[in-house]
Amino acid sequence: MVDLLLRGERLGPAGPGIRAVLFDKDGTLSHSEPMLRALAEARVFQCLAHAPRAGCPPERLGMLRDLLERAYGMAGGGIHPAGTTAVAARDHNLISTATALAQVGLGWPESLALSEEVFALTDRLHGQGSEEPPQPTDGLVDLLERLRDAGVHCGVISNDHLDGIHQFLERHGLAHHFQAHWSAEHQPRKPDPGAVHGLCADLGVAPEACALIGDANSDLRMGRRAGVGIVLGYRAGWSQPLDLDRSFAQVDHWRELEVVAATAAGVSRA
Ligand SMILES: [Mg+2]
Repeated sequence: MVDLLLRGERLGPAGPGIRAVLFDKDGTLSHSEPMLRALAEARVFQCLAHAPRAGCPPERLGMLRDLLERAYGMAGGGIHPAGTTAVAARDHNLISTATALAQVGLGWPESLALSEEVFALTDRLHGQGSEEPPQPTDGLVDLLERLRDAGVHCGVISNDHLDGIHQFLERHGLAHHFQAHWSAEHQPRKPDPGAVHGLCADLGVAPEACALIGDANSDLRMGRRAGVGIVLGYRAGWSQPLDLDRSFAQVDHWRELEVVAATAAGVSRA
């Protein structure tokens, strides 16, 4: 059992401490923004290239570009940290693409078919196979080693697919730090609190004995609703400032977190 200190202050209610940490992936474990930006740009490019053949009038291509960029959360050269590209699973992004195509006049079957085609053309840009493979966030490896040394289990809770989670962890030699994963293939998905309960069950740890760390309000509110003991926002994963719910504690660098052994009388250094 450990306690987590943020900038020297103990997190969470007084109690026996925590036994596991659940990490979001994109924007928390990984700097995913350059890869996600390249993916969103490629989807826009392919939509504009193929939409005329599917019936989009040429004079509406400018509107289509604007709708897609808004739908994907593309702004200021980056990606909106809470937009669909950053937060949502592939199938939700595909539906938002089809919706933009429908808004410029395509029928729904044609919109869905073109979206499927565009995603098939651009899927290779997602994940570790991309030209901008996501890197671990600064100081992550050191934190994971401190958690391991203190006997704390770790899990990944993400709306990426299991393949994407494994590729990221294995590429950076991090796989052995994580005992369980909850992915887009699992049901229910984030942000249903049932996703937290499922991952906790896989880890064999009660939600109140866990910390959950994420970079989206949807992650943080899910953790609270699931009864997680410590819910912590991570703000250093994106180029845009994160507007996280201030009712949650927030960390700007992993070195701000200390892992200390929980004791009946309080805490002592692990
Ligand atoms: Mg995230």
